[in-house]
Amino acid sequence: MAKQLNCSDVGFDCSAQINADTEEEVMAQASEHARSVHGMSDSDLQEHEGAIRGAIRDV
Ligand SMILES: [Zn+2]
Repeated sequence: MAKQLNCSDVGFDCSAQINADTEEEVMAQASEHARSVHGMSDSDLQEHEGAIRGAIRDV
């Protein structure tokens, strides 16, 4: 089963969708996306990690 994350489910007005084989890979890609597109810092990411993980779905 693969993992999917819609950026909009984390609360951003953003149509980005991340697909990966594992939750860790989704988190890695989501972190990169959040930094580069949404300007989030490492501390922002730590603060939102639970919400991001909670938005990951099995597909
Ligand atoms: Zn986004």
